[in-house]
Amino acid sequence: MSAFLESPKSFYWQYLHAGTGLSYAPSVARYDHDLAFGTRWAEFVDAFYTTRPITQASSLEADLSGWAEKIKPTYLTSFVALQNNYIASFSPDDGVRTPDTSELRLESDRFVARLDGLSADGIIHECKTTSRAPSLDMQLWRVENSLQVKLYAVLAEAEGVRIEFAYKDSPNVVFRAPVKAITREQRRFWKAELESLWEAIQLCLHREPAWGHAAFPCHPDGCTIVSKRFIGECPWKSMCDGVTGAEHFYRPRPPHIDERTGLELHIVR
Ligand code: SF4
Repeated sequence: MSAFLESPKSFYWQYLHAGTGLSYAPSVARYDHDLAFGTRWAEFVDAFYTTRPITQASSLEADLSGWAEKIKPTYLTSFVALQNNYIASFSPDDGVRTPDTSELRLESDRFVARLDGLSADGIIHECKTTSRAPSLDMQLWRVENSLQVKLYAVLAEAEGVRIEFAYKDSPNVVFRAPVKAITREQRRFWKAELESLWEAIQLCLHREPAWGHAAFPCHPDGCTIVSKRFIGECPWKSMCDGVTGAEHFYRPRPPHIDERTGLELHIVR
């Protein structure tokens, strides 16, 4: 649903086009270091709360083999430092999740979700890995009000949410935010939001199948984000390149040169 909101066309390319048997060509194939880092971090926190003997991060370093060769060396260093910080700061018995509510799968007739954890008194435990942002308040607000947390809250009938940020930048520490209460009224409102979006996606899905991607609105504002420091290019841009009349949205980018180093900057989101 988040992908659909970002760009309905991107949602189509990412989740539906591959199933048509037609050619499938994202613009960029690469190892996603941030995704890999986040996935391994979720596994570590799950093990911390379910496999109690974890008391020393060094015992986990061996467990990183196979991954350690692929991930950026700076990320590997950060990961080990974060593990140590987590072990020093928290206890598997602190109750933020129980062993049987870690990596908990929830579903309704419309939605499926796997939340990081849930406490016995109904507080969601959501762990994020992130780089430092200028404003922690804004970063926290965005996660606490994200579609993902709303969906978890609705499915788990949660009474609150507890967000954690594990910072990949130095100093590698984990920030555990205070519990933010969630009311029954909020859950009712969020359920309506989620179902409206679900219905919008269904409308696109059930249009004349021959329409294919044409049933999914194009959202060109998100195609190539250019800021002073970087250019972020949608990985599905090459799939949209042939859309008649939209060529001007997808024209080749002019090179963006870093004034200090003289190197071209190109960040793919
Ligand atoms: S290139 Fe633009 S319209 Fe196409 S999927 Fe990406 S963001 Fe959406």
